[in-house]
Amino acid sequence: MTFTAPLREELRGVEPYGAPQIDVPVQLNVNENPYGPSEAVVADVAAAVADATRTLNRYPDREFTALREDLAAYLGHGVTPAQVWAANGSNEVMLQILQAFGGPGRTAVSFAPTYSMYPEYARDAMTDWVVGHREEDFSLDVAHAVEVIAKHRPSVVLLPSPNNPTGTALPPATVTAVCAAAAEVDGIVVIDEAYGEFRRAGTPSALEVLAETPNLVVSRTMSKAFALAGARLGYLAASTEITDALRVVRLPYHLSAVTQAVARVALRHADELLARVDDLRAERDRTVSWLRGQGLTVAESDANYVLFGRFADRHAVWQGLLDQGVLIRETGPDGWLRVSVGTPAEMTAFHTALTATLGRGLG
Ligand SMILES: *Cc1c(COP(=O)(O)O)cnc(C)c1O
Repeated sequence: MTFTAPLREELRGVEPYGAPQIDVPVQLNVNENPYGPSEAVVADVAAAVADATRTLNRYPDREFTALREDLAAYLGHGVTPAQVWAANGSNEVMLQILQAFGGPGRTAVSFAPTYSMYPEYARDAMTDWVVGHREEDFSLDVAHAVEVIAKHRPSVVLLPSPNNPTGTALPPATVTAVCAAAAEVDGIVVIDEAYGEFRRAGTPSALEVLAETPNLVVSRTMSKAFALAGARLGYLAASTEITDALRVVRLPYHLSAVTQAVARVALRHADELLARVDDLRAERDRTVSWLRGQGLTVAESDANYVLFGRFADRHAVWQGLLDQGVLIRETGPDGWLRVSVGTPAEMTAFHTALTATLGRGLG
């Protein structure tokens, strides 16, 4: 019997997305938080998981009521539990958004360089994908954004702030203007604040304008600031009209009892986990200065990574670092590389490896 699996036409020959998972001593490629939890947090998580295990014969709370309350309290800004939605990582949250608000005959828009997963969610939700552009300094020109939105009439606009891979945060006036333009065409705007907690002082969150902006969605994750990438918990705040729509497309019991329990413990320990964020922000600023000191071009960053360049052969530089046990990310516009901010020891290893690589005339 000969058989060819009836794969969707647009998926034929497509490689699964993902950064290389290479086991090297210094991993600075996927913007993870380099600090694992303290033993006190480990013990609390273990106890909460043990407790959840006692009732694993039952399905979990489908509405994750307690977790929603905790997330709303964490976000502040008057966000109510009914305005919160969560799923297994903000990647799943974003797919659910496109399942509910995208779909055949509809369009999702972003502005490049942007998060490389967005076109994949659009494809998986059979939504057309259109990208405008960002400026030379990676800021977003409001007039251009408004023009793209008016022309393509997207039902969903996806904008990371701070932007991945550039680190650029959007000013509130830009968020408001993009939301107004999208409202004209009945579109929603997702401000993806996956790195929101790493913002520099004085950079506001889009949460500040949430109450008066009914088509705004602010997305967050526990993967980065909370050092919880392995637990898979992403969430958002939006109007209840939007969160209620997401309840329609989610799989039943999509958030396991274990996930809910672990996330709640992490939120209880927010002070300890977020204290490391300040260390990382300081290390980020030191990394920007150091790279500039090497004569490199460096994008302003409000995130826990830094985009730098520009190299005639960025792959040679990436490989030169990897050969010395330092894994960074070959991403962003041609000629640029992105390094995640690690511990001081990891950043010293990065400095040493980059100096040696550039000293050999690579790049
Ligand atoms: C890391 C990241 C996410 C979060 O992914 P999770 O699925 O929550 O781990 C979302 N958006 C951007 C732009 C990211 O870089």
